[in-house]
Amino acid sequence: MLNEAEKLLIADWKGKNVLKDVSADLEQEGVILVCCSDGHRFGEMFCHLQNFTENIHALALNGGALGMGFPIKFFFRKRALRRNIQEAVDMKGWRHIVVSSHWPCGIATSNKLTLPEVLKRTVNASNYIKTRIRGENIEVFPHLHVDFRILPEKEKGNQRTYEICHHRIKELALAY
Ligand SMILES: [Zn+2]
Repeated sequence: MLNEAEKLLIADWKGKNVLKDVSADLEQEGVILVCCSDGHRFGEMFCHLQNFTENIHALALNGGALGMGFPIKFFFRKRALRRNIQEAVDMKGWRHIVVSSHWPCGIATSNKLTLPEVLKRTVNASNYIKTRIRGENIEVFPHLHVDFRILPEKEKGNQRTYEICHHRIKELALAY
């Protein structure tokens, strides 16, 4: 559940265009989605992306791409994810990859990651994927899904997905 400080932080990031509405620049043909497999939020992350593209090849793993920025104990997870992304790119021939983290995330919490750290790791993982995945004109889009609901009430709605703007993060020099 989001606390008041986190709600304010998200509102601040939206105001500064660190977070913005997801652009419609995604390839219609298909997109590779790297995300957390959270059973309360995966469906919403997946369905939201369907507004922009017809086909989604989902690589869902606990914590999603957050594991790519973790220390050595996550080395195998990082390697497995990179290999799966490369395999998907080679197999499908698609060049757009969405890296979607979410908040609140159980894996982030169990690793004592704060919301700003999740944001930073998502951008870092996106940059890593862009440099390490082989293929022509690969583009990587970091997203942040936010669940404003108070579980376990599970009322519909109140979940949002934002695109994270790399450049705004650098300009703001957010303190992590
Ligand atoms: Zn999660």
